[in-house]
Amino acid sequence: MKPIPYGRQHITEDDIQAVVETLQSDFLTQGPKVAEFEQAFANYVGAKYAVAVSNGTAALHLCAMALGVNGSSRVITTPITFVASANCVRYCDGTVEFADIDPATALIDIEKVRRMLEGKPKGYYSGIIPVDFAGNPVNLEELRELADEHGMWIIEDAAHSPGGYFVDSQGERQFCGNGRFAELAIFSFHPVKHIATSEGGMVTTNDEELYQKLLLYRTHGITRDPNLLEENHGGWYMEMQALGYNYRIPDMLCALGITQLARADEGMARRREIARVYDEAFADAAGIAVLGTNPASLTDTGETGHAYHLYVIQVADRKGLYDFLREHQIFAQVHYIPAHTMPYYRSLGHKKGDFPKAEHYYEACLSLPMYPTLADVEQQYVIEKVKEFCKA
Ligand SMILES: *Cc1c(COP(=O)(O)O)cnc(C)c1O
Repeated sequence: MKPIPYGRQHITEDDIQAVVETLQSDFLTQGPKVAEFEQAFANYVGAKYAVAVSNGTAALHLCAMALGVNGSSRVITTPITFVASANCVRYCDGTVEFADIDPATALIDIEKVRRMLEGKPKGYYSGIIPVDFAGNPVNLEELRELADEHGMWIIEDAAHSPGGYFVDSQGERQFCGNGRFAELAIFSFHPVKHIATSEGGMVTTNDEELYQKLLLYRTHGITRDPNLLEENHGGWYMEMQALGYNYRIPDMLCALGITQLARADEGMARRREIARVYDEAFADAAGIAVLGTNPASLTDTGETGHAYHLYVIQVADRKGLYDFLREHQIFAQVHYIPAHTMPYYRSLGHKKGDFPKAEHYYEACLSLPMYPTLADVEQQYVIEKVKEFCKA
């Protein structure tokens, strides 16, 4: 059996052809594929605007900038996430506070957030960055209500959940990043994520003003839009109107994103099928707990809006299982070491013990192989080895 990673990209002849064609075109950086990818992606998630950027972390940084995060901003996020979700606040000099997770799903615990906000003056917290962890969508309708009461914005970190949805109180499917409940949402196109462009990311929004800011900050704060210029000296003229960055994504990577996106539904169906097989295999396996799906993303007809970036189990001897699987060429992974326990965040005053549910989850969690090209025999082998170790 060849090595089985926890996640991997799926590159087809169509993908390769699309990149080669771009290489042969006139545009290596900013060509027609950028806008085409943005349009296709906005349609896919149901948002009005999409801004393609160099990676998901840049997307988060642009969001924090567009919302005006600064040295007096306090922002809440979850400790069970990739550190970029919190780091974007730090890039803008804001303060990060964490809220513990709901152990059933490892998503940010909205009740905990409610308690943090109780008794605080409106505006005490500027915003919140919920994460659709593992592809499990957060109930943003519920979070929106809370955010509105406290004058907070929401950045949905949907890096794990393109194509995922939750069902709102009206019974409507609300796709991650559709901008209905959050000001901004971000996605990542890192190879382990659903859509791979190598490095790449996207911001989606329904807010025209934020959209304009994202465009400006993505490219040095420079604009050439005649409607926005303060002066105009001629065809060459441009103005740097704010301090921005070079967070652009090249045309050839957007070409790859377009062909990848065209297969996203197929990949999602396969991920959900793989999850179903794991679910069945572990349903009555003693000592193996499967991380739960947010009830908000289950439909009346039994469908799931879980996007399954990860398939997470929890076992008592996690290190033992991790090492055992490695010996058998199965490269499971741990998501995540709680952000507040990282030396950097500890240097800012956070400490171990602050979020016991997140820390307890971390002790036991393991992400099993989950990607569309995982073969049935490979999955059966993974299941067999997990059960063998756990004597389930
Ligand atoms: C991958 C990821 C990011 C950052 O994406 P990059 O493209 O790697 O910069 C942000 N948040 C979460 C939750 C992620 O998993």
